[in-house]
Amino acid sequence: MRARLAAAAASAGRAPDEVALLAVSKTWPAAAVREAAAAGQRAFGENYVQEGVAKVEALRGLGLEWHFIGPLQSNKTRAVANAFDWVHSIDRLKIAERLSAQRDVHLPPLNVCIQVNVSGEASKSGVAPDAAAALAHAVAALPRLRLRGLMCIPEPSDDPALLRARFAVLRRLQERLVGEGLALDTLSMGMSHDIEAAVAEGATIVRVGTAIFGGRRPLAASESA
Ligand SMILES: *Cc1c(COP(=O)(O)O)cnc(C)c1O
Repeated sequence: MRARLAAAAASAGRAPDEVALLAVSKTWPAAAVREAAAAGQRAFGENYVQEGVAKVEALRGLGLEWHFIGPLQSNKTRAVANAFDWVHSIDRLKIAERLSAQRDVHLPPLNVCIQVNVSGEASKSGVAPDAAAALAHAVAALPRLRLRGLMCIPEPSDDPALLRARFAVLRRLQERLVGEGLALDTLSMGMSHDIEAAVAEGATIVRVGTAIFGGRRPLAASESA
């Protein structure tokens, strides 16, 4: 995966260290995270609150960086606010307000990204592109959060031109927000099947699960609701 990422960066004319690799360990046990950590991987992504918090707690001694990347309901924000270092999936102000209010004062501000729906009708999660700027400015004003950038999950496609067009929507939105004075340094985009298109459009974090760990395991019944 690291070689593939370096090749993607090189063909985009970018340095390999401009793109961070987030290993998405959802559905994999703590032992799999330990193995990846032993191979030098530091940043891990989780989608499900209960499973993710349990892994963070089980692996606390390893000094890893934890990113919450899944949908977040308001009754589960407290656990996420205090177990994770990043949340990529902010798409409503209410969730951001709760995370800010619940983040422990002894912890540094929680890094967050706004999830943008770059695929219109074809995808349900994320704020619409034309509502993203207002949400970004409101989130940037919250005291215990640090708005780092934008995240997207385009609809699955084998068409590199379509994927690049989707990722470009996120990049242009980021450029606009930086022009409006927000200090954003993160474009969280690209997954196992599309990191090349994402890196070509400026991704700074790619979120990769299957290509590192293999196909996903069945969810615990408690997480599938
Ligand atoms: C599962 C997931 C990923 C990783 O997807 P792969 O195709 O397994 O690489 C990345 N981002 C989000 C938000 C996910 O839910």
